[in-house]
Amino acid sequence: MAQWDVVVIGGGPAGLMASAAAASYNVKVLLVDKGDKLGRKLAISGGGRCNVTNAKPLDELIKNVPGNGKFLFSALHMFSNTDIIGFFTRLGIELKEEDRGRMFPVNNKAKSVVDALVKEVRRLGVTIRTNKPVKELVYDQDAVKAIVLASGETITSKTVIVAVGGQSVPTTGSTGDGYPWAKAAGHTIIDLFPTAVPLTASDFFIQDARLQGLSLRNVELTLFNPKGKKVCTEEGDMLFTHFGISGPAVLRTSHYVSVTQRKFKNTPLLLTIDMMPAKSAGSIAEETVAMLKEEPRKAIKNVLRTYLPDRLLKLMLEIAGINEDVTYYDLPRDKWEKFVQLIKHFPVTITGTLSLEQATVTGGGVKIKEIDPKTMQSKCKKGLFFAGEIMDVHAHTGGYNITVAFTTGHAAGTAAAKQALEAEKF
Ligand SMILES: Cc1cc2nc3c(=O)[nH]c(=O)nc-3n(C[C@H](O)[C@H](O)[C@H](O)COP(=O)(O)OP(=O)(O)OC[C@H]3O[C@@H](n4cnc5c(N)ncnc54)[C@H](O)[C@@H]3O)c2cc1C
Repeated sequence: MAQWDVVVIGGGPAGLMASAAAASYNVKVLLVDKGDKLGRKLAISGGGRCNVTNAKPLDELIKNVPGNGKFLFSALHMFSNTDIIGFFTRLGIELKEEDRGRMFPVNNKAKSVVDALVKEVRRLGVTIRTNKPVKELVYDQDAVKAIVLASGETITSKTVIVAVGGQSVPTTGSTGDGYPWAKAAGHTIIDLFPTAVPLTASDFFIQDARLQGLSLRNVELTLFNPKGKKVCTEEGDMLFTHFGISGPAVLRTSHYVSVTQRKFKNTPLLLTIDMMPAKSAGSIAEETVAMLKEEPRKAIKNVLRTYLPDRLLKLMLEIAGINEDVTYYDLPRDKWEKFVQLIKHFPVTITGTLSLEQATVTGGGVKIKEIDPKTMQSKCKKGLFFAGEIMDVHAHTGGYNITVAFTTGHAAGTAAAKQALEAEKF
């Protein structure tokens, strides 16, 4: 006779939601976490504000999950972004919508989201054991039977939900512990890679850090593969750093960098920045020439000071081969064309990404073909469920990853509880 109906390993958003969903069926639920606190990553998410979910329609939401978004179709229809918003509203956490559909708590405090979730899990009668690292899972030929803690204690359960996250930011507890457990059950682990992560670049202006700290708003980034084929275009804000580039548009591009580099054996990739996507090269040429004509005796670096950030302007003039002190009268016309092209297609040589540990999200994980998308149950072992980032599902930044965790957690918790209740009948 198993001690528990449902054991949930991992108290991140996936495990907390799985615990709440399971406990709402009045079954005996145990939530085990190795940390001293639950929801440690959730508490630092969204810059400490927690981007809980995204308000976009479901088809848009799925498009923002480049790592196997279609796998979420059933789970999202059972527990969608709207349900997540309703869930938190019922717990007293009002959410507000910001740009691009991003939903945050009105009080801008991620901790209030964590506290509300933990309180709800407790209210529903879930037993919580913190500081209890799980070492391994026990299986028989067909099903999961128990978990074993690092202390040696064995805990038996009718069902086990593995929600231990990926391998990014390991200080929050996600250290990739779940992958060997999944392998032992017969699962394939798709190679891990960093995603939603800053990009590294080798260009001289990155190496000498002359643009470090410069942020650009509403630019358009286009990534090319080594054959010169366009891979993706992402728009939004970005930032130059001492190692490369970062910011929301860059983090969205990083998925495609990781995937393309894996395909092309880590070859550096060309990324171009369109500084002014709303304007054509022709209109930029007209605007800038009009500005220069108005002050024909002034050095162009001073005339265009309001048109582009100073450091970028000087760099672009240098790359175009134009002396920054030249006036309109002496401006070499062919080089001016090159300068305008640089505004539309500023090239950056991407060498890779920061490490998996530094990434916001882990790409790869438990192969989704081996998981039932309606219940999140393993197709290898009965009673074994997965939820959240441990699976080979990953999304862009914007509240989509926490949505993945909540929706898959809800599906797993619900199915595990129902299975445990079914088992009681026999
Ligand atoms: C800095 C940062 C900011 C982010 N901001 C956002 C955001 O605003 N919006 C968004 O959608 N996504 C965001 N993300 C991504 C999002 O936080 C994760 O995708 C999400 O937390 C994954 O949830 P999870 O429950 O699967 O795993 P995790 O949140 O990683 O939780 C896993 C839990 O399992 C526990 N655990 C691990 N191993 C064991 C073990 N052996 N025994 C027992 N317990 C164990 C850990 O202690 C941890 O509590 C952010 C990520 C980072 C790093």
